Amino acid sequence: MATQSDTPLGGFVDSHFHIWDIKTTRFGYRWPREDSGVPFKYTPAQLVDVMKPTNVEHAVFVQVNNNCPEETVWLCELAEEYKFIKGIVAGLDPTDKDFGATLDRLSQNPRVVGIRHLLEFEEPDWLIRDDVIEGLKILESRGKTFDLQMVPALMKYVPTVSQRIPGLKMMVDHIAKPNIREGLFDDWAKDITKMAENPNMYCKISGMVTEVDTKKYTTLQEVEEQLVPYVKHVLDCFGPSRCMYGSDWPVSEMSGIPYKGVYDIACRLINRLAPGPENTAAIFRDNAVKFYGLNLDLM
Ligand SMILES: [Zn+2]
Repeated sequence: MATQSDTPLGGFVDSHFHIWDIKTTRFGYRWPREDSGVPFKYTPAQLVDVMKPTNVEHAVFVQVNNNCPEETVWLCELAEEYKFIKGIVAGLDPTDKDFGATLDRLSQNPRVVGIRHLLEFEEPDWLIRDDVIEGLKILESRGKTFDLQMVPALMKYVPTVSQRIPGLKMMVDHIAKPNIREGLFDDWAKDITKMAENPNMYCKISGMVTEVDTKKYTTLQEVEEQLVPYVKHVLDCFGPSRCMYGSDWPVSEMSGIPYKGVYDIACRLINRLAPGPENTAAIFRDNAVKFYGLNLDLM
């Protein structure tokens, strides 16, 4: 008999969420700051609440702080209580002298699946520095993943990383944040095409609503229309077997669209551009499981 996690319609995975607590954790957040205009604190309990009206039952935390193993430890502790946290992407710096040892120590918890490093605080060519490449080789040797916090200007560096470490599983976060407000498309599209040539590169269909002018496009349908060409292009390049849904909650809240609205837009886009229960299961669950090596039965 099929269990719920076998059906295409249940047990969805949100591949990208954050929580933070900028006052009490003392991690020294570079973003958000107290003057960023966003709440100081988002908790797993709030996420449980907003996930309720959706099919999302599992989620992957993505780092907020660079080079902060303490944040990963904090999430591992929270995951003991909040079982929906099935994956943790750690904020580790691959150039840190203890990178391999720290990664090994944290990876004793099976929820720790990979790393991300916020690139906005680094020089543009950071990704192709020799010390970064050496660290990423360690990451690859441990079978862990690398989430790329990408913006269009950095995409040109990614094929070099693909060439130098072809076995490294990499993720383009947030379809690389194209400038949807100004309708910029062609250069972004070329770089997406090039990055997708690496079969170990995946793409998160996430983080897009904050790039839409939601003061001008106020309904979910209008926002969806703004996203269609971009989502179509990533699906054309990566295919439905290398794309996955992510909410980017609570950063997504800055668009004024709540969790359920972001989810509904994604469901409508996937139904339109990659219809069929196989694609739904892949994009909303199985690709995240495959990429990160999640164990959805972890309790
Ligand atoms: Zn994010």
